Amino acid sequence: MPEARLVFRNARLLDGENPPRDGVNLVVEGERIAQVSETPPQTGEGDRVVDLGGRTLMPGLVQCHFHTGFGPTPSGGAAPMLGLEASATYMGMIAVYNARIALDCGVTSIIASSNPAGLDVSLKEAILLGIAEGPRMLACTREFITSGEQADGTNRCWFMGIANHGLLRRLDGADAWRQATREELGRGADVVKVSIAHGHGADSVRDINYLTPEELNAVIETAHERGKKVRGHCPSRIGVIECARAGMDIIDHADRIDEAGIEAVIKADATVVPSMLWSERFLAFAESWDHTAAPLPIGDGFPEKIEDTMARLRRVREDFEYTKTMLSRMHEAGVRLVLGDDYGFPMMPHGDYVSEMELYVKLGIPALDVLRWGTRNGACAMGRGDELGLLAPGRLADLLVVAGDPSADISVLRSGVQMVVKGGVVLRDHLTAAAPAV
Ligand SMILES: [Zn+2]
Repeated sequence: MPEARLVFRNARLLDGENPPRDGVNLVVEGERIAQVSETPPQTGEGDRVVDLGGRTLMPGLVQCHFHTGFGPTPSGGAAPMLGLEASATYMGMIAVYNARIALDCGVTSIIASSNPAGLDVSLKEAILLGIAEGPRMLACTREFITSGEQADGTNRCWFMGIANHGLLRRLDGADAWRQATREELGRGADVVKVSIAHGHGADSVRDINYLTPEELNAVIETAHERGKKVRGHCPSRIGVIECARAGMDIIDHADRIDEAGIEAVIKADATVVPSMLWSERFLAFAESWDHTAAPLPIGDGFPEKIEDTMARLRRVREDFEYTKTMLSRMHEAGVRLVLGDDYGFPMMPHGDYVSEMELYVKLGIPALDVLRWGTRNGACAMGRGDELGLLAPGRLADLLVVAGDPSADISVLRSGVQMVVKGGVVLRDHLTAAAPAV
């Protein structure tokens, strides 16, 4: 239950939009923010008053590319393929575990990405019912693919689509795409994941869109008719352009985006999730690998000669260097960028979310803008920009108390999240739990 009234005094306010402001007080009533002011609010009996002593108050973080069920198997051994070899029951437990980790880190909302066995819808329901603890969720479908594409379950990643209840759902033709969209949204998903193109990771980008225009339109129209969203794994120049023009809501990765793509994305008011940490970590791992001692364990499926592996890595490096230059360009042009990456992959443990923010700061994006991506922009990507992502009267009280100022040093979010409040409910408290409440 929300506190009757939760009064934060003497905060440095990072409201999700503006630069920090000191000496601010914020009052939460029920699940919403009632007041934000410099004059101290009246307090009464029953109010819970927390003097923040200049600590930062900011909106809860929104992770916009979240694989609920990806994670290591108990053995933690030999590059487990995202934990997908485990039973659905076990993956469900991983999903609950990941949701708790996200909350620990100050993530109060997620837009999920592809998942098997109805994990997302189950997790969302469990959180709503209070069975599990976790962020607000937009639940995702399985990853919809066309036959013969990169991840097609009929060729080499056979376990991705076991009995077609696995991670992937293979579809051909507009009718099939429409029916699958109806089915999975009808079962409670909020966003459809579509695989548009090859690349972003172990293999390089191709200038391709696997879907026909009819298939793309079928999934987008069907989702939008139901008030739902579509996201696409889209590391492709032409893919970005065609998806944005077709009305796709969220474009994942966007490697090789060009000026025409930027223009199309802005015109469509679409969101881009750059998710560049995985690429950086994969390359750091792969380029330092002793290829003469053993083949690289993360490959493109088929065995390959060392020179082929090296050529593949060079292409992936070129893609990544190009995309790095386009990050600032997208930001300057006004593309709505958000946070979220392929956590749960090898070398990408859930909970390591600040590393992605630090990467963008390292690439020249001001910390305050990265925080806007992680709060205001994420809320807009969820379609809840009028309720979440900003600390202002009337908004839902999803907020964090942070020791230090993340707009000056984003790394303080690594260990500085001291309170996590979702909908007015204090879910984490390392501040007043350690000392008596004021
Ligand atoms: Zn992903």
